[in-house]
Amino acid sequence: MQQSARALPPLDFDGLRPPSPFMTDVHARWCARVRDFVTREIEPNLATWEAAGTFPDSLYETAARAGLLGVGFPERLGGNTEHADPYFRVIFSEEMHRPGVGVVFADLATHWIGLPPVVQFGAPDLQESIARPVLAGKKRIAFAVTEPSGGSDAGALRTSAESRDGHWLVNGAKTLISGALRADYILTAVRTGAAGAGGISLLLIDAASPGVERRAVPGLRWYNSSIGTIEFRDVQVPQDRLIGPENKGFAGLAKQFNIERLSGIAATLAMSRTALAEAIAWAQQREAFGKKLVEHQALRHKLVDAVRSVRIAYAYLDQCIWRLQQGDNAVADIAMLKVQATRTLERVAREAMHVLGQHGYDGTNRVERIYREARIFAIGGGTEEILNDLAARQLGI
Ligand SMILES: Cc1cc2nc3c(=O)[nH]c(=O)nc-3n(C[C@H](O)[C@H](O)[C@H](O)COP(=O)(O)OP(=O)(O)OC[C@H]3O[C@@H](n4cnc5c(N)ncnc54)[C@H](O)[C@@H]3O)c2cc1C
Repeated sequence: MQQSARALPPLDFDGLRPPSPFMTDVHARWCARVRDFVTREIEPNLATWEAAGTFPDSLYETAARAGLLGVGFPERLGGNTEHADPYFRVIFSEEMHRPGVGVVFADLATHWIGLPPVVQFGAPDLQESIARPVLAGKKRIAFAVTEPSGGSDAGALRTSAESRDGHWLVNGAKTLISGALRADYILTAVRTGAAGAGGISLLLIDAASPGVERRAVPGLRWYNSSIGTIEFRDVQVPQDRLIGPENKGFAGLAKQFNIERLSGIAATLAMSRTALAEAIAWAQQREAFGKKLVEHQALRHKLVDAVRSVRIAYAYLDQCIWRLQQGDNAVADIAMLKVQATRTLERVAREAMHVLGQHGYDGTNRVERIYREARIFAIGGGTEEILNDLAARQLGI
């Protein structure tokens, strides 16, 4: 039987995402809602925010009013889509990164990693007093694990919390903490027991407590004045701010890392699509040696290589999400996909800059910023070495 010819999708941001067998109209509507928010509230302001090195705190409340901050959190605390599948968060992360900027999402979504342990383990009144205002965008929470002495070996962290006279006494320091300077609460990994992963607990610390000092980390021109170092000097924390069982906080960290990796994968693949779409559009109109850039085989192959690597990563992502939906945490595959996705972004950003030539540096496109930010994704959320080791352990290699 002769098949009718189907129109090829344009190779723009949407067309570069291969069709997913698992996504439905419900996902399309959610995507449209997030895109509308990003188009109205974020994109027109990016240049100003980049020059200022920050974005206004009011964006949190605006995002909450648009129903975006509560994604995946319980409705009883002001959340929405509590039982929705992982595509909701993946789509949110993709749409937030579509303009080619990572930092707005990184700050706006710190509650994705900071809040779940509070919701899971906190007493009902603590959940109400912390989670509700955070989900309403009125308060902010950061998640602090990394220390100046290192982040990869989280089981070796040194910030201590001693039980003294009815409270915890916290001493130590954290660094490179997203949203640290804006945070009202800091979910902090501390050592409450013996050396190693078995002696770690999670404490919810009020950022305004006496003895908490915060300062900015200059950063890699990732216009983010909110990423910071936090020092704790004899900070007194009430006993009931222990989140989860004492000395068993490491398992909670691991769970949060999986969420962080999935949003990082979505971020890198979205930025890859944005960069690639710009490079393809440019190569189709720019001429050199009397013909379009795409008519030069060497450049055409660069673009096809990039499309191929994006499609492969998305096929893997769809499979991982399907497994998550079946209740399988897919830890090894999500770790490997994070490595694959960040390498895809690094490669695609390099090739896109290459195809753009001087246009890559003239300030009129998003590729230069994506190129600049690509490296960060290979560090935050777990470096390649750490994720490869994790995958090897999980796979029994
Ligand atoms: C933009 C950004 C935002 C961040 N936000 C947060 C946040 O909100 N909260 C938070 O807690 N942290 C955050 N981090 C910190 C991040 O988690 C750490 O940077 C990361 O865990 C790596 O730690 P490190 O930088 O101390 O590197 P190190 O641990 O010093 O490692 C340095 C290098 O050595 C490699 N290495 C280490 N151990 C091994 C090994 N066994 N085998 C082979 N190689 C190894 C690493 O892969 C890395 O390449 C953020 C980082 C960035 C860049």
